Amino acid sequence: MTRPSFKRILLKLSGEALMGPGQFGIDPDTVAGMAAEVKAAKDQGFEICLVIGGGNIFRGMAGAAKGMDRAQADYMGMLATVMNALAVQNALEQMGVETRVQSAIKMDQVCEPVIRRRAERHLAKGRVVIFAAGVGSPYFTTDTGAALRAAEMKCDALFKGTSVDGVYDADPKKVSGATRYDSIGFDRVLAEDLKIMDAAAVALCRDNNIPIVVFNIRQAGNLAEVLAGKGTATVVLNKE
Ligand code: UDP
Repeated sequence: MTRPSFKRILLKLSGEALMGPGQFGIDPDTVAGMAAEVKAAKDQGFEICLVIGGGNIFRGMAGAAKGMDRAQADYMGMLATVMNALAVQNALEQMGVETRVQSAIKMDQVCEPVIRRRAERHLAKGRVVIFAAGVGSPYFTTDTGAALRAAEMKCDALFKGTSVDGVYDADPKKVSGATRYDSIGFDRVLAEDLKIMDAAAVALCRDNNIPIVVFNIRQAGNLAEVLAGKGTATVVLNKE
């Protein structure tokens, strides 16, 4: 299928994309690599919103599994996403890309609060806007935060950077001969529980008609390639 063309996108990266060879935390070289991907896409003229997860530092569910109060643990997870946002901001600005971080949990000393109209202004001025702290409430994930921000910022698509090059009918890391879809409907992703993002995020994109582009972010230059309509990816969209 011919991919739809986009002008404004929201890129969602999981915290693990910043981890590099380690088991947790932030690897500066890896962060610089991710920032270079974003810069290359920006240099092509795209408007870019970013949402970064926090799983490389802390996940609420993991805390809850060890006996913590779930909401308390989720707030810790949200704070982790702010740290990642600041790391990516730093890397982008070292490359000369202007950015602003907007957090769903107010943190006046380190970043702006989420203000949609202000974010619009930043994009118009050519800045990358990094949305941190998910939706700002426990029991959600940064996938849902990404879908929410993509909707309110009227993004043409949500780009989900992963370690595989699209959506397959079985896990390609486990099943040899698994087939990749070029495109697939939201309802099928939900019905077959294909787990590209959490169900709330997929449903939000479906209801607001925002295609999700699943692609491999670990391959250098790939974001810009996929944005140019080349490279390998799966587009999740509302099918007739
Ligand atoms: N989180 C939350 N509400 C949100 C977004 C995130 O409570 O709106 C917490 C939740 O505990 C989650 C953690 O922040 O586990 C890190 O986010 P996520 O798991 O989405 O990160 P990723 O898997 O993308 O690295």
